[in-house]
Amino acid sequence: MSDAATQAGRDASELTLIAITKFHPASLVRELAALGVHDIGENRHQEAQAKATALDDLELDWHFVGQLQSKKAKQVRRYASCVHSIDRESVVDALSNGDDVLECFVQVNLTDDPGRGGVQPVQLEALVERVLEAPALRLRGLMAVAPLGEPARPAFERVRELSHRIQHLAPTARDLSMGMSHDFTDAILEGATHLRIGTAITGNRPTGD
Ligand SMILES: *Cc1c(COP(=O)(O)O)cnc(C)c1O
Repeated sequence: MSDAATQAGRDASELTLIAITKFHPASLVRELAALGVHDIGENRHQEAQAKATALDDLELDWHFVGQLQSKKAKQVRRYASCVHSIDRESVVDALSNGDDVLECFVQVNLTDDPGRGGVQPVQLEALVERVLEAPALRLRGLMAVAPLGEPARPAFERVRELSHRIQHLAPTARDLSMGMSHDFTDAILEGATHLRIGTAITGNRPTGD
């Protein structure tokens, strides 16, 4: 990450590393915490909730990065400090009220496949406006996963352009959650601020996803 930041003429201290620990046991998260990792990402509510509960003696920030059902959203609020996968109004509405402000990213779908998660770019502005109206949500910016089978860098460049497009609505929501184990260099070159890295840190996951 430091090398990529240098190459991009950026300061590595602007980058937040989120260790994605899905499928790994809470004991592995505890080891990462002992090594100084503070931000942990999970993509399934039940698994995330179980680990956050088991590790509530640690000062960790839990990031929810997976597809979210509005039914589960309220529960995610209890342990997560940030949700990266806001992709429809029903999820915004389910998360919009709470005692604490929840940080969030709107996820953009860079494919035509709705199963991949994220809002289609044509619907982005409307969804951003909805988030901005929610009293207990703080929009940090946009999140995306690079599509399979095409170069990541142009995909991340599109996310950066979409981020510019929403600046008139949300001038402070400039962060970009993008970049995983295999494409984080490209993401940093295109302005990523939050890197979601799993296998490059943890090794292969115990079971497939
Ligand atoms: C699993 C996952 C990651 C991490 O992927 P790796 O290839 O293991 O680095 C990042 N973002 C999301 C949304 C994920 O589900």
